[in-house]
Amino acid sequence: MMDQHDLLEELVTANRILANEGVLDSFGHVSVRNPENPNSFFLSRARAPAIIEASDIMEFTLDGTSIGAEPGKPYSERFIHAGIYEARPEVNAVVHNHSPSVIPFSVTGKKLRPIMHMCAPIGDDIPTWDISHKFGESTNLLVTNIDMGRDLAACLGGRTMTLMRGHGSTVVGRSLREAVFTAVYMELNAGMQMKAMALGEVTYLSPGEIAAIERGRAGFTFERGWENWCHEVDRPYVPGNWDFGEGYSRADRQAGG
Ligand SMILES: [Zn+2]
Repeated sequence: MMDQHDLLEELVTANRILANEGVLDSFGHVSVRNPENPNSFFLSRARAPAIIEASDIMEFTLDGTSIGAEPGKPYSERFIHAGIYEARPEVNAVVHNHSPSVIPFSVTGKKLRPIMHMCAPIGDDIPTWDISHKFGESTNLLVTNIDMGRDLAACLGGRTMTLMRGHGSTVVGRSLREAVFTAVYMELNAGMQMKAMALGEVTYLSPGEIAAIERGRAGFTFERGWENWCHEVDRPYVPGNWDFGEGYSRADRQAGG
């Protein structure tokens, strides 16, 4: 297991990669569960992801309460992360983003679906969470308390990602590298899917193809992407550990509905 220093450096790298790949801009955030205390997670203070340092990172409990050092104001939307870590014990990383190509799918009823093999991890049943359904027509669309975070987590269910109407999306993974990989290919898929839809009728990956890709995907694939992305943001590449333990499968992820 990575020690805490290395894990926080990995979280800095994840922030830099997601900013460089256009998934995060000045806003959005990525967190990682504390492997030594599964009831807490690490997330930067409210700062643009491209310039985050390890000294900006704070620790929060699963109701979004800050514990430990407080280098600055926390993200108001830390409850997204809290609600999901509470609901999904196997999830160790969460990316909340306003990734530009996914927004049109959150407001039109057109389904975001994988059209290319690298994008299979986004899944073939992506829901859209609409904050107004439970919290009314007068919110500012942000997830600013734990009730909202829990409602979002319930919509996500056992899936890899959910869209958020008029706001963005949230992606989860068993590790930072997996969540970053899925988020990068989510944004690419959304852009390519809109181009394909403009050309004509689209043939999407079938559920069987998506399942086969998930079964066959190994740590090697994530590592190849991660190493390249580290190079692009001038961060050190540290080979990853891909032992996720038992009991994790696509079926598990779908079980929550
Ligand atoms: Zn947001």
